[in-house]
Amino acid sequence: MTNKRRMLAGAVAFAAALGTQLAGAPGAGAAEAVTLHYDSSGAPDYLAQIDQAAANWNAAVQNVKLERGGSATIIFHETHDGRGSHTNTDGHGHGDIYLDSKQVDEGNDVTRIAAHEVGHNLGLPDHYEGPCSELMSGHGPGTSCKNAKPDAQESAKVDENFANGLAAVVEQARRAVA
Ligand SMILES: [Zn+2]
Repeated sequence: MTNKRRMLAGAVAFAAALGTQLAGAPGAGAAEAVTLHYDSSGAPDYLAQIDQAAANWNAAVQNVKLERGGSATIIFHETHDGRGSHTNTDGHGHGDIYLDSKQVDEGNDVTRIAAHEVGHNLGLPDHYEGPCSELMSGHGPGTSCKNAKPDAQESAKVDENFANGLAAVVEQARRAVA
């Protein structure tokens, strides 16, 4: 019993050390969430909805945390060109998110749009054929769908993407394109 416990403690310490090494920074172990900062000042009409979208993600995942301000890597913009909301992102916490006010005027829920685009920045692909309970089904279920929270599978995938810290996510992506 005692030995087993000691071995387990050793394994945990090793795993923690490995996590720190993977994350590439002291103190950024596997148990610590990656904090991603966002800047919503470029979308002044949607500040509250963007904060709500971030709060919905924060309530659903453990390994990544979204915070307004600071040195932002996710930048929100408000557009009026009818091209549709979209994001340019590397899928691991860096990106520009464009919220199209015309799409909002057409009845699309802006909190859902913001949370969906953040989902792309957290590494999730579109899944338009999915139900309203999924965030990544986007405009698929129609404008009556106001759900702005990820479902359990989406949350689990994001937690998996960020399980070993941001550096590990970046390394994963680098290997994927190499
Ligand atoms: Zn999308």
